[in-house]
Amino acid sequence: MNNYVKSVLNDLKEKYPWQEEFLQAATEVLESLGVVFEKDSKYEEHKILERIVEPERIIKFRVPWQDDEGNYHVNVGYRVQFNSAIGPYKGGLRFHPTVNESILKFLGFEQIFKNSLTGIPMGGGKGGSNFDPRGKSDDEIMRFCQSFMTELFRHVGAYTDVPAGDIGVGGREIGYLFGQYKRLANEWTGVLTGKDHKWGGSLIRPEATGFGATFFAKEMLKANKDSLEGKNVALSGFGNVAWGAAQKVTELGGKVITLSGPDGYIYDPEGIGTEEKWEYMLEMRASGRDKVKDYADKFGVEFFEGERPWKRKEIDIAIPAATQNELFEDDAKALVKNNAIALAEAANMPCTLEAMEILRDGDILYAPGKAVNAGGVATSGLEMAQNSQFIFWTEEKVEEELHKIMVNIHNSCLEASKEYGLGSDYVAGANIAGFKKVADSMIDQGLV
Ligand code: GLU
Repeated sequence: MNNYVKSVLNDLKEKYPWQEEFLQAATEVLESLGVVFEKDSKYEEHKILERIVEPERIIKFRVPWQDDEGNYHVNVGYRVQFNSAIGPYKGGLRFHPTVNESILKFLGFEQIFKNSLTGIPMGGGKGGSNFDPRGKSDDEIMRFCQSFMTELFRHVGAYTDVPAGDIGVGGREIGYLFGQYKRLANEWTGVLTGKDHKWGGSLIRPEATGFGATFFAKEMLKANKDSLEGKNVALSGFGNVAWGAAQKVTELGGKVITLSGPDGYIYDPEGIGTEEKWEYMLEMRASGRDKVKDYADKFGVEFFEGERPWKRKEIDIAIPAATQNELFEDDAKALVKNNAIALAEAANMPCTLEAMEILRDGDILYAPGKAVNAGGVATSGLEMAQNSQFIFWTEEKVEEELHKIMVNIHNSCLEASKEYGLGSDYVAGANIAGFKKVADSMIDQGLV
């Protein structure tokens, strides 16, 4: 490992030994940047790594709220404002019981490079709460969102920090958060993205992460003179990202054969390729039950309790679309052994470091989340552009722009990888291309 990278990573491990997920994300990014520092000493001279691994600001606050029975509850809210070198902080809010500073720092760190890859001026941020939305009523969700925004509103703004959704935060939550922001600030601005299209949201934003991931997978195959036509695609999760991917994969001729949830996975040999099935995915999510078994019961397909889909022999393309660390070393080995053609990460950091190593060494095309799932935040960027101009684009226009952005991201990853003699290494390419723009901007702006 490059000495500069090694020393920064060691310091980081000493400083934050308990922040496992953040250290995992930092290790993955920094290790692949060694080649950049060997060629150019300016980054080390400006202490760019030491600066880029430390968030510009972390806001942590109490979120008190009352349930329907009148009981009081207290959760913790956060916003990690990681890096604003190339634009206002931008990134989602996650409401999930596992949320802590380590998870949000990992997500915010990834977001810096992801947003840089989109080519839109957006810095990196992430936030959320350890609040568990499961089983909560609409009114409880509304009260929680209002309380969360009552503190957050003073730290965000259309030109300061623009949050969006992530796990546990969808259109409904964005609505309640936006309403409270507007009330407190007495100002209608694009302070959040993922808004409903009636009140400032962009068309295609709900589908964008899944559509973008599918466009990216298509480009990977195209670069290898192949296509999605007739391919078996395994998806995990059944949320927003899997929903968008299922539609676009089907449209481009592939067959989606699996979905998963915390309870296990389902295998649908007919393919998850009809309006009825996509609608049902939305229903499952809205039910708040978080059980993919419901799909098996409804459509009479097999359900595998407590298992992950990755070991199925039919898989040509794997698109993990659920959450971090959901694909392990043995899954990666099975995919390589079963001659899967590609793995495109639609979730953030779904593969463990061990799984990544197998995939990078194996005979499989492998691309990381910060490139593959960038379509979500890119379309948020398009929403910001529409809001700031007070205009509203058609579906066709948004999808066309999203497609262009995904093709560009794919090509920048390959170009950066080739520039450093690494062949078609999408992981290194994404990190290098994302990093250089932010790092060079930091140097331009001086020691701030
Ligand atoms: N949460 C999404 C992500 O991980 C979207 C963020 C956004 O649209 O700001 O990129």
